[in-house]
Amino acid sequence: MVAHIKEGGKANQWRLKCVAIGNPVHLKCNACDYYSNSVDKLRLHATNQRHETAIRLYKHLQKQESACSGDQCVYYCALCDYSTKASLNLVQHARSPRHQQNEGLRKLQLHQQGLGGEEDGLNLHQLYHVKDC
Ligand SMILES: [Zn+2]
Ligand SMILES: [Zn+2]
Repeated sequence: MVAHIKEGGKANQWRLKCVAIGNPVHLKCNACDYYSNSVDKLRLHATNQRHETAIRLYKHLQKQESACSGDQCVYYCALCDYSTKASLNLVQHARSPRHQQNEGLRKLQLHQQGLGGEEDGLNLHQLYHVKDC
């Protein structure tokens, strides 16, 4: 029960961060790099699929960050052999046409090997890594 409340609190905290950047007329969703001048629009944005995907990745990276001991971590996409020093860049990379294409191909491969079919799509842990510099 306590853990449950904690979880909810964390999620809310994140949303607040999402909203509180900048002044009230410039709202931003960090994970998607989405800007809006209306809270309603941002709320609507928070319900869409792409946002959900970005948040899942963002949280995944945050979790992995805690395991990284150095001052700076490197965020790595194993699918595209892409690495960056900013977690947001990796979240953005995950939306890029290049990554989407690779992800599509990978899913097709898994499907052909009979390993696909998960509704969740590809495993974040296999796809994205956080490493020390
Ligand atoms: Zn978003
Ligand atoms: Zn990628």
